[in-house]
Amino acid sequence: MQRVLFHETVFGPIHSRRLGTSLGVNLMPNDGKVCTFDCLYCEAGFNAQGPGTTGFPSRQAVSEALAAKLDAMKAAGQQLDVITFSGNGEPTIHPDFPAILRDTIAMRDKHFPEAKVSVLTNSTRIFSAGVAEALALADNNILKLDSAIDSTIRAIDRPTSPAFTADRVVEALGQFAHTGIIQTMMVRGEYQGVAFDNTTDAEIGALIEAYRRIRPREIMLYSLDRPTPASGLHKVPVEELRAIADRIRQATGIPVMVS
Ligand code: SF4
Repeated sequence: MQRVLFHETVFGPIHSRRLGTSLGVNLMPNDGKVCTFDCLYCEAGFNAQGPGTTGFPSRQAVSEALAAKLDAMKAAGQQLDVITFSGNGEPTIHPDFPAILRDTIAMRDKHFPEAKVSVLTNSTRIFSAGVAEALALADNNILKLDSAIDSTIRAIDRPTSPAFTADRVVEALGQFAHTGIIQTMMVRGEYQGVAFDNTTDAEIGALIEAYRRIRPREIMLYSLDRPTPASGLHKVPVEELRAIADRIRQATGIPVMVS
């Protein structure tokens, strides 16, 4: 079974063409995974591997690890473009996520005021007022919406809550109108006898309606880039992503990026 990727609370810096120099913050255990989704494409593997043994890092441990890394980068004369919350699961599950995000913004302001703070979230915890208020503080609040059709989200993202519905999430995502960034993974394939494809005409039509309701600052489309825990998944070619992006842009007037 594919296991977690991130074995540290603060990892990097990683250099990428798209993000520049990026530092990652993993608020989940360093040897296991905790998430309210169990996506077929998750680079941290399936939830079945368990939550590991290290537990969530404390607010103080995150603060100390990040301060040490930022101090070292500053002393070495390194650049920093972005601090990104991602890692072995859903960062907003951490009970101190709002306080840790505020600590991080304060440290960013002190050490690298020009750097951005980004959060990658699966949008399942935006019903918590504390989480939503904190997410609104991030420079890039990047919220997952892989489909606006329940059966497709259930097939691809596999929410752990039986109460999850796309409609409820889309409604709540409206609180981030003009500020949030919606990220949609485009993928097709079959897993355990269930076929899925969120690039069909009906799927894109439903997504367009959802994006219109949410009115995000931007939409990001992407497809598979790394090994996935499930076999039977197919990457959507970039030319196809660009054509879908054009259709969404024309229908909504919202900027759409393909990465
Ligand atoms: S929401 Fe993110 S961390 Fe959770 S299973 Fe999906 S890809 Fe993995």
